[in-house]
Amino acid sequence: MSTLETTRRETLLIKAGALQNAILTSANFSIIATDEKGVIQLFNVGAEGMLGYQAAEVINKISPSDMHDPLEVVARAEALSLELATPIAPGFEALAFKASRGMADNYELTYIRKDGSRFPAIVSITALRDEDKGIIGYLLIGADNSLRKNAEVALINAMAIAEKANLAKSDFLSGMSHELRTPLSAILGFAQLMASDKPAPSPAQTRSVDQILKAGWYLLDLINEILDLATIESGRLSLSLEPTSLAEVFHECQSMIESQTRQRGISIQFPVIEASCFVGADHTRVKQVFINLLSNSIKYNKPNGSVSIEHSLPAPGRIRISVRDTGYGLSPEQLDQLFQPFNRLGQENKGEEGTGIGLVMSKRLVELMGGTLHVHSIVGEGSTFSVDLNLAEQPQLVDLAMIKAGPPLESQLGISMRSLLYVEDNPANLMLVEDLIARRPDIRLLSTRDGLSGVACAKAHLPDVILMDINLPGISGIQAMKLLSEDPLTAHIPVIALSANAMRRDIEKGLEAGFFRYLTKPIKVDEFMSTLDLALAAAAMGKRTAQESL
Ligand code: MN
Repeated sequence: MSTLETTRRETLLIKAGALQNAILTSANFSIIATDEKGVIQLFNVGAEGMLGYQAAEVINKISPSDMHDPLEVVARAEALSLELATPIAPGFEALAFKASRGMADNYELTYIRKDGSRFPAIVSITALRDEDKGIIGYLLIGADNSLRKNAEVALINAMAIAEKANLAKSDFLSGMSHELRTPLSAILGFAQLMASDKPAPSPAQTRSVDQILKAGWYLLDLINEILDLATIESGRLSLSLEPTSLAEVFHECQSMIESQTRQRGISIQFPVIEASCFVGADHTRVKQVFINLLSNSIKYNKPNGSVSIEHSLPAPGRIRISVRDTGYGLSPEQLDQLFQPFNRLGQENKGEEGTGIGLVMSKRLVELMGGTLHVHSIVGEGSTFSVDLNLAEQPQLVDLAMIKAGPPLESQLGISMRSLLYVEDNPANLMLVEDLIARRPDIRLLSTRDGLSGVACAKAHLPDVILMDINLPGISGIQAMKLLSEDPLTAHIPVIALSANAMRRDIEKGLEAGFFRYLTKPIKVDEFMSTLDLALAAAAMGKRTAQESL
């Protein structure tokens, strides 16, 4: 053996000794060695510090299991007996059993100090073996786990508090918005009365009233947007995903933003979308998203700029709608802040009205509909907002042969015409029901597109039966049902709910609200027609009873 080799080995040994020494005198770990029966043989400085015993008090006297919470040791013995399908005694065996079978073992138990105080510990246990592999004892290395445990508890508490605060914030915003709307309706209502007063207001008064109205409508938009955002953030927004015609959506968007484009001198190019192209979306909400993107692309465009809307198929089953403008574009810093509520990226100084909520809302809405919203922008050239949505099957075409025809025309003279009011925002569903009712000359169909006008139409025409969608613009079908049932004029009319929300909870909620029946979309022709007949019969009965009681 060379001298060099000897020196290296010596160095290693010294190093190994130093290492061993460092471990044994470590104040941060409790290191306990026992004999094969579990009686303590070595108790290092760290163990003394952590557990409050002097080595001499425990060596050859007790076992590490005596310093643990006895109930936890019993529980561990039971758990291990089950896990390993063999009886394990609640004592040192419960700590050492796995290590004695050569299994790696770390456990978390509570150590009890000499003074009775407790702390959570994480302990790693290994069997010590002689040269013939016989077990001569065990080595237990323990660390105080209270810091980690405290941090865990603190984290869980902090998360619970944050969650609660977030819900409280959403509740506050939603309650506040309702409270603000009531006085605002008075302001807007009376300002409009003044504007149309006789004799007409003076030019100065007209200017003042116009300012009140302008600010009032803006405030109303803001309140509605905050309310919407609060509803989304609290997870209470109800959407119905059903086949929605993109061509219809853009047709409606086009008429809604036409005057805006004209005022600004912006040219706009709408896509030609096939009538058969349907997406899985909530009609009202997807329209809200595109109206928002389109009105941004007009508002933040250059004078005489242009907007183009394009569509492509980025992946099977997906469609991408891109709204491209020729505006000033956004810098990377602005893009980073784009989806922060109330952040208007400096536009607040440029006189453009807005709240900074629209884009945040749009992104969340698209995501709730299973889609994505992306933005690509180059400073000086413009921005492109792309919405990817899931394609949906075109709604079934009605098999007219399946529909029971109404009474023949000659006998219709004898029966009174009955009327059905359908409140529905999605034109595809409305068309389907129009087709169905066309086969029933005894039924006249009325329709409205939102909850409030549905209630107004019901009061004006007193239809025999009402068919009500649940997710509607403005008030929901459930709220509309409540208004109808509170009014003695309409309380007797059977209202059938027809909604894409097919969760059992939705149906229960609907029936609790007082609906006659709750049908789910897509419409099943047989079920639909028989429910309608049932409701018409109930309506006729109701009428007869009402007449008899006169
Ligand atoms: Mn709807």
